[in-house]
Amino acid sequence: MATLLLTLMAVGQSSAVRAQGGPSASTGSTLFQNVRVFDGKSGSLSAPSYVLVKGNTIERISAAPIAADPGVTILAGGGRTLMPGLIDAHWHAMLIRVTPAQSFGDVGYVNLVAAAEATDTLMRGFTTVRDVGGPVFGLKAAIDEGIVSGPRIYPSGAVITVTSGHGDFRQLSDLPRTIGGMLHRMEVVGGAMVADSPDEVRVRTREQLMQGASQIKLTAGGGVSSPFSPIDVSTFTEAELRAAVEAAENWGTYVAAHAFTPAAIQRSIAAGVKCIEHGMLMDEETAKLMADKGIWLSMQPLPEDLKLGFPVGSVQRAKAEEVWPGIAKTYELAKKYKIKTAWGTDVLFSAALARQQGAILASLSRWYTPAEALVMATSTNAELLALSGKRNPYPGKLGVVEQGALADLLLVDGNPLDNISLIADPGKNFLVIMKDGRVYKNTLPK
Ligand SMILES: [Zn+2]
Repeated sequence: MATLLLTLMAVGQSSAVRAQGGPSASTGSTLFQNVRVFDGKSGSLSAPSYVLVKGNTIERISAAPIAADPGVTILAGGGRTLMPGLIDAHWHAMLIRVTPAQSFGDVGYVNLVAAAEATDTLMRGFTTVRDVGGPVFGLKAAIDEGIVSGPRIYPSGAVITVTSGHGDFRQLSDLPRTIGGMLHRMEVVGGAMVADSPDEVRVRTREQLMQGASQIKLTAGGGVSSPFSPIDVSTFTEAELRAAVEAAENWGTYVAAHAFTPAAIQRSIAAGVKCIEHGMLMDEETAKLMADKGIWLSMQPLPEDLKLGFPVGSVQRAKAEEVWPGIAKTYELAKKYKIKTAWGTDVLFSAALARQQGAILASLSRWYTPAEALVMATSTNAELLALSGKRNPYPGKLGVVEQGALADLLLVDGNPLDNISLIADPGKNFLVIMKDGRVYKNTLPK
């Protein structure tokens, strides 16, 4: 009995550690000397400065030299730029290097492949991702525990969808489904959950929260890549959407909804959804509504290559041809109405595109100045992350270089506010990558 009790306590403790984001590996101190700081908010660099990191936090920033105590690691910046680690607000860590079929296959393989990609993601300077769909809880725990290196992950867990909705990757031969009956393989692995009533939505939402979801992701309308969801359809009813919103808000967090059309966006907002993913077919009226209500738009400047990846003549390609022109239009609406706009990539099933993560951010220069784009991918994205309230797995300030903020930092060889294309080649231009106070890369000349 005593043994059983002890075992139960041990299990309880390890899940408590996971919920707090795990132990920090960083106990030492690092001093960046002679760096020009882009703080994640302002459009210009600071005067030459000194930045002291202690543990996982930025302890002090000063224009005057800071004396280094014994044992402090000194990094001579040589006048280079120190900036916050990048944040991708729409990422699928489990679905980058696998094929769709593999993603429902061997769970061990999928996790190992995702771990390798997570390390590369961090090495591209992305110190945080908001994961909007995929069975990512194990990978997150392994990263937080220091078993593999990777970015901080804000997990949503499984995408919640209706029968036939975006994210329902079943085939016609899988029908019909009996409510309460056997789960499909995509549900067993935790990739997507089908829910067709407010009660089912509540169950699936609470299951993600139980596993540690920092926000809930559901699909309110059709999508490009899924086989049976026309782009024009609205999927969940308002009552179903509200069931997810209530469950999430009772848990202190929020719902993000995949939606392209005005109808799907407006219904989501009416149900209490706080963040619209994509939104690329929105109209003026919907843009104004989002601005008035302070709803977040999580947008992606999807590269042309992604569209061309869908075979000519396929249903997916036809849907992509409809959505892509909406990218430019939606960025223009977002600027016109000053919608709170987050930036992400939504790379799926392509290691090659993932390598373009920084280049996709740099492509925002079609609509924004380099400073505006970099502010979006740092402090603005961090504001969206903070919507997860008490479910925030990494309490503390992200996306900024300021005293007291978490020490996620990049030392850039050059000034990205002058030349944003520097971030497209992180292997060459990011000389130091620090996450949570720990240096993961240092190629400064010795
Ligand atoms: Zn996505």
